[in-house]
Amino acid sequence: MTFNEFNFKDTLNQAIDEAGFKEPSPVQKDAIPLILEGNDLIGQAQTGTGKTAAFGLPVIQMMEGNKGVEALVIVPTRELAMQVSDELFRFGKTAGLKTATIYGGAAYNKQIERINQANIIVATPGRLQDLLQSKRITLNPQFVILDEADEMLDMGFLDEIKNIFTFLPKDRQTLMFSATMPKQIKILAEQILNNPKSVTITKSERTNTDITQKFYVVADYERDDALLRLIDYKNPNKCIIFCRMKKEVDRLSSYMTAQGFKVAALHGDMEQKQREHTIRSFKQGLVEIFIATDVAARGLDVNDVSHVFNYHIPFDSESYVHRIGRTGRAGNKGEAITLVSPNELRTIKRIEKDVGTTMISEVIPTRQEVQSRKDNDLLAKIANTEIKPAAIDMVKTLQHDIDIVTIAHLLATIVQEKIDVKGKDIIGLGTEEVKALIERAKNQRGGDRSGGRNRSRGGNSRGGNRGRSGGGERSAGSRSSDRRSGERSGGNRDSRNGGGNRGSRNRGQSNN
Ligand code: ADP
Ligand code: MG
Repeated sequence: MTFNEFNFKDTLNQAIDEAGFKEPSPVQKDAIPLILEGNDLIGQAQTGTGKTAAFGLPVIQMMEGNKGVEALVIVPTRELAMQVSDELFRFGKTAGLKTATIYGGAAYNKQIERINQANIIVATPGRLQDLLQSKRITLNPQFVILDEADEMLDMGFLDEIKNIFTFLPKDRQTLMFSATMPKQIKILAEQILNNPKSVTITKSERTNTDITQKFYVVADYERDDALLRLIDYKNPNKCIIFCRMKKEVDRLSSYMTAQGFKVAALHGDMEQKQREHTIRSFKQGLVEIFIATDVAARGLDVNDVSHVFNYHIPFDSESYVHRIGRTGRAGNKGEAITLVSPNELRTIKRIEKDVGTTMISEVIPTRQEVQSRKDNDLLAKIANTEIKPAAIDMVKTLQHDIDIVTIAHLLATIVQEKIDVKGKDIIGLGTEEVKALIERAKNQRGGDRSGGRNRSRGGNSRGGNRGRSGGGERSAGSRSSDRRSGERSGGNRDSRNGGGNRGSRNRGQSNN
């Protein structure tokens, strides 16, 4: 299917062309015709699936462009407000539509001036409520869009939203988009939508297949080493590392900076100017690693983030979906990597079930593995490098005193120092150990299924989380694997890890 089938006006088709969109995404395919028919709509689809265009295109198609503010889009954060208005501006400019972005912290007068000239407003709830309640502005939009509704709820904007709607005309078309549909959002939908149609991108479609999801089991004290090793191995283009708390963001930022990476921290209580500056540096590639909390990275839309790392697994599935949605954007491939301690394996299972996805269990590459890979890359590079005149001169000079083979050895040594892989050889748990732990977690859950599934305390109470108990987990894991391996013969984890070469690594053996 192409965009032509929507019969958009020429100016809009031109804008779609210029944006480089070839084919509507699933949510766009389903939502656009319903919106064009004039229906209210609830759209549920994961981040990065093109929800902005799903409402933006049909609304712009229906706008007349001479009636003041015809469309109001409410979004949870300033970053999102800017991103969404950029995108809507792109689609609307060929038709001469003006877009204004409204958020807290900016001067009132300028904002009001821009609102008075705009056809489309993209606003955050706080400032919008403020402007409406103080009667600084009145709005009469025919189209009202609530974007990322679940994030609004998470950020505590529910009351503002309800209040804002008391200032809006009853006779309007209302569209609501959300990655997830918690109960309170369903209730809100009943209040603000009129006989809505709904578009749900089903679970299998909902998980963005451009994102490969992997997890690695490590002891708590190994997280830093694991992260460094994986970054060394995966060589990300740009990556985001998610932490649970600001404190952790700060600590990890200092640590990664000390390791020589270009790092920036992003957390909720940063000054707006500083945030924008930081995000711009990331987009431009001046910063290669972002370290962020959930809230700080909400909606962040940077197209070429190759990897998302969860330093800790997030507490809930919705955060997980939001986090991994920062990669695999705009048709690019992405990888989402989660570090878990043995105690957290059950959380992996729960998230997989909630989200309808599979995370692949992998083993952290050994120092030797990373080193060989880098050596090979270096050899390939040497073979493909063009010789520069200055290099010839340098070798000539060296040849006065040193024989040519020794020169080659010396130069190779210097180059190799640059790709030296650090850290201990083996980090984290091996395939067999992880398999056994998963099996054990499964059996535990089976055992107390009748008694409320969140209450299985076994793993927790045993698990402490410092280095020593990590060892304890391991030996238990290895032992139980002997007993239970039969049941797992069809297990998929095993085959994915290329069991052969991993087997020789003898992890956890010292405990037996
Ligand atoms: P969501 O709101 O669902 O998280 P966005 O609307 O922000 O997703 O879209 C994510 C990215 O995909 C944006 O960079 C957007 O320009 C791009 N995009 C959206 N629809 C298409 C499409 N049909 N073809 C190509 N790229 C698209
Ligand atoms: Mg969006």
